[in-house]
Amino acid sequence: MENIRLISIEVLDIRFPTSKEAHGSDAMHTDPDYSAPYVTITTTRSDLIGHGFTFTVGRGNEIVLTAIESLKRLVIGKSLFEITDDFAGFYRSLTSETQMRWLGPEKGVIHLATAAILNAIWDLWAKFEHKPVWKLLVDMEPEKLVSCIDFRYIKDVLTPVEAIEILKANRGTISAREEEMKKEGFPAYTTSVGWLGYSDERIRKLCKEAIEEGFTMFKMKVGANIEDDKRRASIIREEIGWERKLAMDANQRWEVNEAIEYMSKLTPYKPYWIEEPTSPDDILGHAKIARSIDPSIGVATGEQCHNRIIFKQLLQAKAISFCQIDSCRLASVNENLAVILMARKFGIPVCPHAGGVGLCELVQHLIFFDYICVSASLEHRVCEWVDHLHEHFEEPARVVNGRYRIPLGHGFSSDMKEKSLKDYQFPKGPVWKAILNEMKAFP
Ligand SMILES: [Mg+2]
Repeated sequence: MENIRLISIEVLDIRFPTSKEAHGSDAMHTDPDYSAPYVTITTTRSDLIGHGFTFTVGRGNEIVLTAIESLKRLVIGKSLFEITDDFAGFYRSLTSETQMRWLGPEKGVIHLATAAILNAIWDLWAKFEHKPVWKLLVDMEPEKLVSCIDFRYIKDVLTPVEAIEILKANRGTISAREEEMKKEGFPAYTTSVGWLGYSDERIRKLCKEAIEEGFTMFKMKVGANIEDDKRRASIIREEIGWERKLAMDANQRWEVNEAIEYMSKLTPYKPYWIEEPTSPDDILGHAKIARSIDPSIGVATGEQCHNRIIFKQLLQAKAISFCQIDSCRLASVNENLAVILMARKFGIPVCPHAGGVGLCELVQHLIFFDYICVSASLEHRVCEWVDHLHEHFEEPARVVNGRYRIPLGHGFSSDMKEKSLKDYQFPKGPVWKAILNEMKAFP
């Protein structure tokens, strides 16, 4: 087979000035500039280029960029097949590099950097195979797929043999589900109606529009002020009625007991779930909240869970009813596969975190794979959708009638447009030059 080598990694600091209009504002992140350290991997074949990224809310980009620079040497010079023939081994070579490991292990900046690089490699692999990433996964033999996962520290709940059994269980019916997804798409919910910084009028207008667009589930940010949250919840309920679902997201604002107390006041608004009620590191805290709030409300978390080991414990402790994987926080497809399979074993639906910039584009591949090959069920399954910044991608994620349409282009849908990469590069792109000049003029 053609021997393709990875010859260079370039990383760009791409930022979008979303804080100007309070897009993405929540109880903890009041001024996010949605950003992506954007990785380009070139190969010995000039037409085969991989793109990947992770996500930050602005200034964090510069630190992740440096971490990616430090990991480069573990990737450049490798052949694509050397990587994909032992993907778990390659994954571990990045996460367990003897000196860099001290920065994690498998958490924080170094893990975000690992995610960006691995996302680019999955893009490269899928492009080489002329398939979207979800299809690459669907077509892979269960044994090969499982060989991409590093099972270190999770074998007490999921062994490679069990993972293969899970994948084989629904193997006979995958083509029917693939066809179904091509026709119907995967259920999405919208977060665009309920950012904290939006006015009441804007919330009403956005609810009306989202209903017209076919959404049946909505999410609002909560946690800054209870009276304000009650008012916004009743506005949303007035607009969407009681049949449609309303999820709430506290973005880690509360102490454990405070979360329980606060949610008792929001129970009348019939929340479907409470997301990130407290610190993402507090596994037993989440479990206590899950036991203590009204049983009709599920606890959801994951967008800032470090790694598969944290997810393992959340599942073991019965701390979550919804598992919110993230394509850029966990180390790419490899680690997300581990979590998807563990969630299946525990019978917990995977409802990914998305939004930001490019998170919908990436994670859609994982939900289509999950439904087609692992869960085989849509019950309580829904993927976040935020309608921002898709125009910067060559193959933007699309939601029609409240459902993600299956992407058909080759790769991970991670290619950003050349013009966007030029315009939004920090600090030298024209968009940022203008903003920074303005700040100088009116400090
Ligand atoms: Mg959230």
